[in-house]
Amino acid sequence: MRIQLLPSTVDGQGHATLEQRLTCYLIDDCVAVDAGSIAIALTTEQRGKVRDIIVTHPHMDHIASLPIFIDDLYPTLEEPIRVYATAEVIALLERDIFNWNIYPRFSELKNDFGSVMEYVAIPEGKEFKLAHLTVIALPVNHIVPTVGLIVSDGKSTVAFSSDTAETEEFWAAVNRLPRLDALLIEASFPNSMAQLAEVSRHFTPASLGQELNKLHHNGLDILAVHLKPAYRELIIEQLGALNLPNLNVMVPSRTYTW
Ligand SMILES: [Zn+2]
Ligand SMILES: [Zn+2]
Repeated sequence: MRIQLLPSTVDGQGHATLEQRLTCYLIDDCVAVDAGSIAIALTTEQRGKVRDIIVTHPHMDHIASLPIFIDDLYPTLEEPIRVYATAEVIALLERDIFNWNIYPRFSELKNDFGSVMEYVAIPEGKEFKLAHLTVIALPVNHIVPTVGLIVSDGKSTVAFSSDTAETEEFWAAVNRLPRLDALLIEASFPNSMAQLAEVSRHFTPASLGQELNKLHHNGLDILAVHLKPAYRELIIEQLGALNLPNLNVMVPSRTYTW
C-alpha cells in the first residue's frame, strides 16, 4: 500500500512546505482519507482518479477543500464523488457545510452524467469494502464524533488514529490484528500545552508516549502527524526524547510504501 500525506501549502518557489495545516492522505493514488488539502495538492492524474473519500470527522482542517474539489470536477465527473463517513458526520456535513449557504448541497445535484456526490454511511467496528481496500472505522476520543481507521489491501495493514486523546476501542481492534505495518498517530501540541491538548482532545508527545504502551505490535513504523505548525520543531524535539526507534514524523509529499 502506498500512502502520501498531501502538503498543505507551497512556498514561493512552488515547493511543498513541511508544515501540516490540513489533513489529507492519499492511498494508492485513488482513495483519500480526509480532504483538508485535496483540492490543492493532487496532481492532474490523481484528480482524475480519486472518487472515494473517507471523512474521519468534520473539523475544517480535515474537510477544508472538499467542497472546492467537487466544485472543480463538477462538469467532468462521470461517476459521483463518494464521501464515506459515519451517519453522525454525514449529518454534520449536510447541516453545516453543504447546506446551500456555505456551499451547494452537491448530494442533490446532477451533471450530464448523473449524481456528482454520494454519501456512504459507514458502520463503526465492522469491516467494509472501499475500492480495493478493506476498512474498519473505530470511534476515538475527540470533541466531535470522530473515527480512527484500520485499512488493509490484503497485503499490508495501516492504522490511522485521526484526531484523538486517550482512547480504547481503537487499540483493542488494532491489537486484534494478526499484523500491523504502520500506525499514523497524531501529536498536536507540545508538552507545555497539555491542558489545551486535554480539553481539545489531542495528544502531546508525553501523552502519546503513554498511549503507545497500549499498542501490542512490535517492529511497525509509527509516524507522528497533525503537529501544530507553530510548535512543529518543539514537538519534534519532544517526540525524539521519547526514544522510540521506530517513531518518526511523517513528511508531506513523500510516498510511504508498506
Ligand atoms: Zn479535529
Ligand atoms: Zn485536525
